[in-house]
Amino acid sequence: MQVGGIRVDAISDGTFTVHPKYFGADVPAGARPEFFARDHLAWMPIGCFLVRAGDRTILVDAGMGPDQDELPHGMRLVGGQLFAGLGALGVGAADITDVVITHFHTDHIGWLFDLAAEPVFPNAELWYGAADFEYFVTGPGDIRPHLRDGFLTHRSRQHSLTQHAVVTPGVTAVLTPGHTPGHLCVSLASGNESLLLLGDAITCPIQLAEPTWHSFGDVDAPTADRTRRSLWQQLRTTPGVGAHFPSLTTGKVNAATEWVAD
Ligand SMILES: [Zn+2]
Repeated sequence: MQVGGIRVDAISDGTFTVHPKYFGADVPAGARPEFFARDHLAWMPIGCFLVRAGDRTILVDAGMGPDQDELPHGMRLVGGQLFAGLGALGVGAADITDVVITHFHTDHIGWLFDLAAEPVFPNAELWYGAADFEYFVTGPGDIRPHLRDGFLTHRSRQHSLTQHAVVTPGVTAVLTPGHTPGHLCVSLASGNESLLLLGDAITCPIQLAEPTWHSFGDVDAPTADRTRRSLWQQLRTTPGVGAHFPSLTTGKVNAATEWVAD
């Protein structure tokens, strides 16, 4: 899709099967059968976005990597597809100038470093919320050892953000804490067009119709809830898409407070 002069392409790194219990222990297994179709699971993407703005080739989120993870209730994350998507767009690892990381959960940082903790994108600068580095890399958060080592070893090209930051004109990292302490969204603006890349601040548009539904990974649930409500307001005027939205399709909130996908 095009946002003014900025080109945006969605790429899924793989599959995330989600059970209603992801959204809260009180949510019944049989909730919303139209969404959780088979075995009470919904097949969702592991979204990354390639943003080409001026002379920058920016990857927003680095997927699960060639890796997988099992969660309770039959939920599972299987990554590994990012480079198939980049290749189809004619982009290789060395072309990426920046990686903006919405947060440090494994399904968003998996491709950053290989098992020897060396950068997969050799020319990229990394942008992330400083509070996520403190929570996941040097604090109690869960992170794969080679990813922790990569962050600790390759500090010189990392932008650890404590406030909003312009990555390149038209591409702004906006801190949106709650899902994780340093979670950020990416705001794109060019000409009179705009788009919000939401990361996991909103996991799925179904949370608009089910406002009490949290997200399994919310580190600070009350703050995540406040952030989600603020973002729903912004999505009345600005389209957006999250990293696990169905088909990585953008959409907006209409006057009846319903999600309308583009
Ligand atoms: Zn995620």
